[in-house]
Amino acid sequence: MKVLVTGGAGYIGSVATEILLREGYDVLVFDNLQQGHKEAVSEGASFIEGDLSQYEQIEAAIAGFKPDAVMHFAANSLVGESMQEPFLYLNDNVVNALNLLKAMEAHGVGKIILSSTANLFADPLKMPIEEDERIIPGSPYGESKGIIERFLHWLSITKGLKFACLRYFNAAGATELHGEDHDPELHLIPIILQVALGQREKVFMFGDDYDTPDGTCIRDYIHIEDLISAHILALESLDAGNRTYNLGNGKGFSVKEVIEAARKITGHPIPADIAPRRAGDPATLVAGSDKIKSELGWNPKFTDIESIIETAWKWHSAHPDGYGG
Ligand code: UDP
Repeated sequence: MKVLVTGGAGYIGSVATEILLREGYDVLVFDNLQQGHKEAVSEGASFIEGDLSQYEQIEAAIAGFKPDAVMHFAANSLVGESMQEPFLYLNDNVVNALNLLKAMEAHGVGKIILSSTANLFADPLKMPIEEDERIIPGSPYGESKGIIERFLHWLSITKGLKFACLRYFNAAGATELHGEDHDPELHLIPIILQVALGQREKVFMFGDDYDTPDGTCIRDYIHIEDLISAHILALESLDAGNRTYNLGNGKGFSVKEVIEAARKITGHPIPADIAPRRAGDPATLVAGSDKIKSELGWNPKFTDIESIIETAWKWHSAHPDGYGG
């Protein structure tokens, strides 16, 4: 089976490519290398440097490769940035997805797995958050993913598109070959590990006055290998119907707990200061993932925060300068 991976040079897309290849799929990576790294694209995948904002570029890629399915990771994906730069999200993420969907439609590509987000649930009625939770995006980022989910719904009805929307909680960890390398780095776990590597002096905890036991935000960290195994299960099940799943471990950890776990793993004191809240951050996001477990037999391998951080620490120690080193 041939899979086009948009954003396959980025953190999650590069791991998707690695695992798809390992499982015998034929992969074409399409990435503009704005945030991704050419070095992160697995040998064995074909690669096109292209931008989804340019319809003719994605159209030519699809016409040439003739994929059976698409995994769509390429997007602006920072909650905080989306509060400062809403058009990067409400315009670019949305228009780029439309270009991809139009090109798929033009060439009869009928399956897509969308990387969606827990930021759809800024004001949940229940915790853990299940798939039937009301959608109230927490930021323009979350809104952009919610809009794209609705596109898929309508294209399924009008054109027979088969889709899965996978709402990630906090993707974390690394494989031996691929890890997290953003510039600037804004995510909690890689920032903490940069402190442990001596590349930063301290970590700032954004807010300690949330309505949580220790006052810092609680998130559900899911290892990227488990995340990608869910993508492959979803892809293989699409013939039996569309899928929408929340993906997490079902267990939340506060910012303070994540820092404490990283201190144990790295043996570094990791100094931490309190800083103001970051706009767009809900207090607690924990996934209810029973639906994918019962429907598809998904069985995450990494269930505690320490084992997840350990994989990230191995990768960051081996690649202190990320892909640039
Ligand atoms: N966070 C923090 N300090 C940082 C980066 C993140 O306190 O330097 C917090 C952030 O406010 C959130 C959690 O850590 O509550 C996870 O943030 P991250 O950016 O890693 O992922 P997100 O939840 O935005 O997808």
